[in-house]
Amino acid sequence: MAKARTQTPRTHADPIDLLDVEALLTDEERMIRDTVRGFVKDRVLPVIDEWFEAGHFDKGVIKELGALGLLGMHLKGYGCAGTNAVSYGITCLEMEAGDSGFRSAVSVQGSLSMWPIWRYGTDEQKDRWLPPMAAGELIGCFGLTEPDFGSDPSGMRTHARRDGGDWVLSGTKMWITNGGIADLAVVWAQTDEGIRGFVVPRETKGFETRDIERKLSLRASVTSELVFDECRLPTDAMLPGARGLRGPLSTLNEARFGIIWGVMGAARTCFETAVEYAKTRVQFGKPIGSHQLTQRKLADMAVELGKGTLLALHLGRMKDEERLTSEQVSFGKLNNVREALNICREARTILGANGITLEYPIIRHMNNLESVLTYEGTTEIHTLVLGKALTGLDAFD
Ligand SMILES: Cc1cc2nc3c(=O)[nH]c(=O)nc-3n(C[C@H](O)[C@H](O)[C@H](O)COP(=O)(O)OP(=O)(O)OC[C@H]3O[C@@H](n4cnc5c(N)ncnc54)[C@H](O)[C@@H]3O)c2cc1C
Repeated sequence: MAKARTQTPRTHADPIDLLDVEALLTDEERMIRDTVRGFVKDRVLPVIDEWFEAGHFDKGVIKELGALGLLGMHLKGYGCAGTNAVSYGITCLEMEAGDSGFRSAVSVQGSLSMWPIWRYGTDEQKDRWLPPMAAGELIGCFGLTEPDFGSDPSGMRTHARRDGGDWVLSGTKMWITNGGIADLAVVWAQTDEGIRGFVVPRETKGFETRDIERKLSLRASVTSELVFDECRLPTDAMLPGARGLRGPLSTLNEARFGIIWGVMGAARTCFETAVEYAKTRVQFGKPIGSHQLTQRKLADMAVELGKGTLLALHLGRMKDEERLTSEQVSFGKLNNVREALNICREARTILGANGITLEYPIIRHMNNLESVLTYEGTTEIHTLVLGKALTGLDAFD
């Protein structure tokens, strides 16, 4: 008879990991998590309130992230670390536990700028751009959205025409993360051959950026307008492997994967803060955490945090097996951003008035997630992607 497995009864569950997701990670994944967690503790948390308040992001951070091997970390070759997708996800989670602006910097560099060059570029383009980008010596940005075309990029007005051996690019891109600090932009434009991607170096004549001010969300992140006025580019500025909307949409899928993980970091920080606050804040003669309504809020938050983290891990393992579909990515982005935002908002209520100040991280994360809800496909767009997958009927037609 098989011997029954003895289980050590656990006496005290970890409140931020009730499901023991930790046990599902490999040693290497845990090591990467601890490294990034340490970076966030030492480098992000001491400055983030000041940067958020001032609307500041120090581009020198990108080099530090490069030195840690976190830029384009899940890409193979060209100076990239070549980790699995789960490790990249964990990095996004830990980074966003600090601030969504830092996670956005990692996502935009590794997924939105390096990935399309890695996936669709020539060997020469990869050799030229990827090693310095992996080291954080060059900063990239991704230009798809325009003032009049957000959720529906197919109508974009930015265009590139052939002129002898060159391309001439004109148009405006809007809401571009890292635009103002970028050394190069991966820009998507209409051409006679359909939508194509171009690598546009900062010094290109006619290329200018203007930062978008007065944001109340993602303040520790640069967001800019990119203006291209008859920018002359050599033939080899075009990414030959990307044709049509599939180029930018497949690129976005890479970054959305990081968001699925990242937002669980923001949610975790808000949840942890709320648990600690609920244990110490006394009202009506006892800690607010002993009131049943507060316990219900905390329990609901813990359940969604656990489910969202498990979902991220599940999708991560599927990505590592190369069987993750774009509908599954939409599933994850839709659920995890929505639930992370709910967790942050609920945490805000537990802190009462203290929840609205920068003395605590909650309102900062909550405001950041309003951007994350919108970028990389809004909640509505991912809902419609699932609607199509479920019914076979396309609401976009
Ligand atoms: C901080 C920040 C950083 C960003 N960084 C980048 C970047 O680096 N690169 C980049 O290219 N873009 C970036 N974006 C832009 C972002 O991707 C767009 O804002 C997003 O795609 C939505 O486009 P929009 O804002 O024009 O909204 P719209 O497309 O105008 O949508 C407005 C509302 O209408 C809804 N809607 C639209 N179509 C439908 C439909 N068919 N059915 C139902 N509802 C619909 C939307 O869901 C939304 O609620 C960034 C945005 C922000 C806020």
